Amino acid sequence: MSLEGKVALVTGGSRGIGEAIALRLAEQGADVAVCASRSLERAQEVATRIETTGRKSLALQADVADEEAVTGLFKQIEDELGPVGILINNAGINRDGLMMRLKLEDWDAVLNVNLRGAYLCTKVAARPMMKARSGRIVNISSVVGLRGNAGQANYAASKAGLIGLTKSTAREFASRGITVNAVCPGYIPTEMTEGIPEDAKEALLAQIPLGRMGSPDEIAAAVGFLASDDAAYITGQAVVVDGGMVM
Ligand code: NAP
Repeated sequence: MSLEGKVALVTGGSRGIGEAIALRLAEQGADVAVCASRSLERAQEVATRIETTGRKSLALQADVADEEAVTGLFKQIEDELGPVGILINNAGINRDGLMMRLKLEDWDAVLNVNLRGAYLCTKVAARPMMKARSGRIVNISSVVGLRGNAGQANYAASKAGLIGLTKSTAREFASRGITVNAVCPGYIPTEMTEGIPEDAKEALLAQIPLGRMGSPDEIAAAVGFLASDDAAYITGQAVVVDGGMVM
């Protein structure tokens, strides 16, 4: 599953699942850029860890929902590491609330980062990938995008939207040697899930046949596979990594 000679971008690579993905891709041999909208210092720490493995890395501050920032992000990576051949659309936020109380600003914020961000990054990444007639795009969706979740209409809509984006772009880009897949994590302890109340955590655990939460590394392993040549014949799929929660 070697990624030697490839350049990857992991959006939201400063912590949690994105950090694990960035380290995994570097372990497989890729040079890896990570971006975050606020936590540049943490992104820099991830980049430093990648560099100790002998790979090149770059930590950049960019809001994936901002078109100009995304264009600048890809330009800087191309200048310093080379064109992005592996794009991992991982940046994501949640602003939970029951539908009847869900504020428009929370709807917009979540859709803008989670879905518009992936659209913008995909659009900029695809052109050089098409020229190279090769590329890998992995969108980090969620089991919530498959089955919905009370209190997460905005987040679930964004994650279901990512699956639609995945399947449509997989069809559009297939003839150019680019595969596009989604990974749908289940319940993974990160800063995003920190705020879930204990009783809700127990209720979630009760729905997982494997009886435990997943780890960021277990999501990264699936992404590392989909990014590799071994997954050349897989495109347009939503791969669920959730301990059996959804089946
Ligand atoms: P996390 O710990 O909160 O990390 C989110 C990352 O995204 C951070 O690096 C954050 O950095 C970055 N980010 C947020 N807004 C951004 C923006 N506008 N532009 C660029 N980067 C931005 O969350 P996580 O749990 O690792 O989640 C990673 C992905 O997995 C998300 O898409 C999430 O929806 C998905 N997921 C998570 C779980 C789970 O159980 N944890 C389950 C299913 C799916 P800054 O804050 O500095 O911008």
